[in-house]
Amino acid sequence: MSAKQTDEGYEKRSNIMSTNLSSRMSSVKMSPTTALFAKVDELRRKGEDIVSLNVGEPDFPTPENIKEAGIKAINENFTKYTTGNGIAPLREAIIEKMKKDNGVTYEMNEVAVMVGAKQALFCALCAVAGEGDEVIIPYPCYVSYPDIVALAGAKPVLVKRKDDFSLDLEAIESAITEHTKAVIICTPDNPTGKVYGEDELKGLADLAISRDFFVISDEIYEKIIYGKNRHVSISTFDGMKDRTVVVNGFSKTYSMTGWRLGYLCARSDVVGAAVKVQSQSTTTPPSISQYAAIEALNGPQDSVELMRSEFEKRRDFVQEGLSSIPGVICHDIQGAFYAFFDIRAFLGKEYEGYGVIDDDSRLCEYLLEKHHVAMMPGSAYFAPGFVRISFASSMEVLKMAIERLEVGLNAHKC
Ligand code: PLP
Repeated sequence: MSAKQTDEGYEKRSNIMSTNLSSRMSSVKMSPTTALFAKVDELRRKGEDIVSLNVGEPDFPTPENIKEAGIKAINENFTKYTTGNGIAPLREAIIEKMKKDNGVTYEMNEVAVMVGAKQALFCALCAVAGEGDEVIIPYPCYVSYPDIVALAGAKPVLVKRKDDFSLDLEAIESAITEHTKAVIICTPDNPTGKVYGEDELKGLADLAISRDFFVISDEIYEKIIYGKNRHVSISTFDGMKDRTVVVNGFSKTYSMTGWRLGYLCARSDVVGAAVKVQSQSTTTPPSISQYAAIEALNGPQDSVELMRSEFEKRRDFVQEGLSSIPGVICHDIQGAFYAFFDIRAFLGKEYEGYGVIDDDSRLCEYLLEKHHVAMMPGSAYFAPGFVRISFASSMEVLKMAIERLEVGLNAHKC
């Protein structure tokens, strides 16, 4: 084909190019956390004193040794593209971590470094599911799962968890069809703080094997866990290593949200397909962050325990504070840094200037505008009647937030 013919072909295509958005975008929402972030920012710029409990990131700085490793990488000019699946020493460090923590041995081609756990989820879902496929998501769930599934072109199938937020295996089993490619779980869980027990995970593993699907296991909060609760990765059950895509990252454990680094461990063909998606989108994960991440995994781990124990103190404070407000039902927070509580007792009541408030979104709007405390409505996680707060804030901020919340909730007319 001559160059001229090619140009004409291109011209023809440009002329018939549709100006409408892709139909896939109609099934994808903007993240509600991002939207609330923008609203809080707007109110703060107007001079309002907002207590913000909506953001899911640790309030600690990235530990010094990790920052120094990043600075060293810059000074040593490790500032270029890397291999698409991440640099070998970081993949080796991840393999060691997986062996030590889960007793599962991965090969180098079974690990890929990604631009955050979210990108790892997206690449993993593109790898295992597409047009005509279904992905089961037990809910309440992390806001992004259904949209990431939809972006990958597959259909999210939401299945309610039990009232104590454990997995409803019977409901999952009934939702499985010939199109089911995967189930996504998160443990410890955002938004509920639930840590799945060994029995329910074993039940899901048995289903995955007998009904032939993948489990995408988001373990990003694995180190933020309280009391006697213990993190179990579903990948550790017999026959599950090759059926599980373990997704993890550096954002929460090492307070590195802005470094944008995560990873996945899975069967080599799944990893290869996920890396193809990354190679055609972000090309590689960030080089500097990868050198810092080697230090995060291989360096001293005392900062991880320091942060975890501080979160545990705040967990105790928040759980007690919320439970002391008559009408609020706060579930046991077993891991992660969120409280997910039932506020249904405060709906259907009249609040000054707002009329009768019937749902959690409007209640959160009222609490933000009138009482200056920002929280995520449960509806964002498919759990109307609930509210999520992040306790990744100082004790003073949490104390003020609970005081404002109590005043706001009780300001209804009888
Ligand atoms: N998975 C869960 C459950 C999360 O809560 C988050 C962030 O809030 C992510 C994944 C994304 O993490 P990252 O910053 O590594 O992309």
